[in-house]
Amino acid sequence: MTTNTTIFDQIIDKTIPAEIVYEDEFVLGFNDINPQAPIHVLFIPKIRISTHNDIDESNIDYISKIHVAINQYAKEIGEAENGYRIVMNCNENGQQTVYHIHMHFLAGRMMNWPPG
Ligand code: AMP
Repeated sequence: MTTNTTIFDQIIDKTIPAEIVYEDEFVLGFNDINPQAPIHVLFIPKIRISTHNDIDESNIDYISKIHVAINQYAKEIGEAENGYRIVMNCNENGQQTVYHIHMHFLAGRMMNWPPG
């Protein structure tokens, strides 16, 4: 498990700027700096969970709250019915680059399958 801090800790602390589109006590959502769709938001827990491998009984509530937050946000921006994709990359083969778990929320265009 990676214990180093990441840039997302600084976004949570508001010590570096981000375009925050969703926030509650447990979850932060902000626009991806390199969007892969017209709408590309990263939803992160406000605690350190480095990768999908680190999800367990002690922190699973944060993951549930991310899903609920995404549902709320998708409805709010009118994309729930159109649909969207949520993605969580894990480690090297998953092409994870920031080791603070995050759910990519991609919307506003037709997605391709399979992903590259
Ligand atoms: P992943 O490759 O799944 O780890 O995704 C990391 C994502 O974080 C990438 O899509 C980056 O574009 C995004 N990213 C990195 N730094 C920032 C930042 N400062 N603000 C917003 N998004 C960022």
